[in-house]
Amino acid sequence: MPEAVTGLRVLVIDEQNVTRRMAVKMARDSGAVEVLEAETPLHALTLLEAQERPVDLVVTDVKATSEAGGIDGVEFVRRVAERRLVGHLVIASALEESIIRSVETMARGFGIEFAGHVKRPISPESLRPLIVRLVARRAAAPLLKSRSVHVTVEDLRHAIADKQFVPHFQPRVRREDGAVTAVEALIRWRHPDRGLVPPGAFIPLADRTGLIDGITDVVLEKSIAWARIWRDSGIDIAVSVNLTENALNQPELPERIARIAGQHGIPHERILLEVTEAAAITDAAASLEALARLRINGFGLSIDDFGTGMGTPEQLARTPFTEVKIDQALVTGVFDQPQFFSVLEYSLKLAKQLGLKTVAEGVEGPEDWQLLSDLGCDEMQGYHVARPMPGEEIEGWVLGWHREAL
Ligand code: C2E
Ligand code: MG
Ligand code: MG
Repeated sequence: MPEAVTGLRVLVIDEQNVTRRMAVKMARDSGAVEVLEAETPLHALTLLEAQERPVDLVVTDVKATSEAGGIDGVEFVRRVAERRLVGHLVIASALEESIIRSVETMARGFGIEFAGHVKRPISPESLRPLIVRLVARRAAAPLLKSRSVHVTVEDLRHAIADKQFVPHFQPRVRREDGAVTAVEALIRWRHPDRGLVPPGAFIPLADRTGLIDGITDVVLEKSIAWARIWRDSGIDIAVSVNLTENALNQPELPERIARIAGQHGIPHERILLEVTEAAAITDAAASLEALARLRINGFGLSIDDFGTGMGTPEQLARTPFTEVKIDQALVTGVFDQPQFFSVLEYSLKLAKQLGLKTVAEGVEGPEDWQLLSDLGCDEMQGYHVARPMPGEEIEGWVLGWHREAL
């Protein structure tokens, strides 16, 4: 069975007692449930190897070691990455930005998520938002997992063959005039015994085992077929489909989508593909090629979960996206959480500077709408507007939708 999700576990590495203790306290105050500490990277490695499960976040410097026989922070990062001992990394360092950047690239290459860089001396203002954000993401996870079921590869194969997957659609609307611009296809598994299974319970497994392509095909086919039905009813909206990095890497993907669009007579600019920020900033040639070809074909490209993947402005500027979808962790209830506010503001500003349309996800209440609206976000998606619904309900919803009803 999948392991129960518990609170965030953090490890702080610092030779200076005062700095280390302060960072430990800061992590606790920010909501981490367990905080380990080590004086040097070598001690930290021993400590991590003794743990039963990976630590979620390590805060460390990367400077050279002063310890005889010790290892420096860079080697530490490589070793913990190789052994999958750590999920996220924060570098606390006074070194030049270019050095930090290269360690960041290396960590990512090894599959560690880079959660940010803070200058030394570490201040509560710099470290706190990074930890709070991870805590919030961790807290959001059980919502999916609590409903999750144990899924095997065989179950998935059978479900694909038996066509048990069905997309639901969640509308998004324009801030300025309330017009419905698009719907996002969100897949559900209609399990004969278990009911509607959410994507969090099976997409990661499908992605790891190569079964994702069968699922992506179903979603593309069904979503574009629905777009045809809506157009025939006079509803001209775009439909967006989520792609994992592996799904994106299928060389035939752009042609496949173009073929389905052609069959149903849907203009390419009415089809959007969403890729998470972490996958979007990849250096992998195959992904970059797929993204470029999708754009050349005239499809829209969204960076999903924007604001969480830590893409730098340079990395993002190199990718051919048309819009960003601000992650719900930065949106839902943010009016009440000043620690997220600056990250949200920065993410919106960065997107605008890159010339990208901005869409907020997870707009749950009127306060979320108001705040995002004040910050100039272009479009809104979330329970405050509508929950995901079966394709059959979209037409009625669009016809009955008035912004004034909010
Ligand atoms: P996502 O693409 O970021 O989708 C947004 C998620 O937020 C959806 O969850 C949606 O139901 C939920 N949501 C929408 N509005 C609100 C709100 O106001 N409050 C809250 N708390 N949540 C809201 P869902 O449907 O469970 O999907 C989860 C993730 O699974 C998606 O995140 C996406 O990454 C993935 N996914 C869904 N369908 C597909 C698919 O067809 N293919 C692939 N590769 N991934 C998919
Ligand atoms: Mg999405
Ligand atoms: Mg998202």
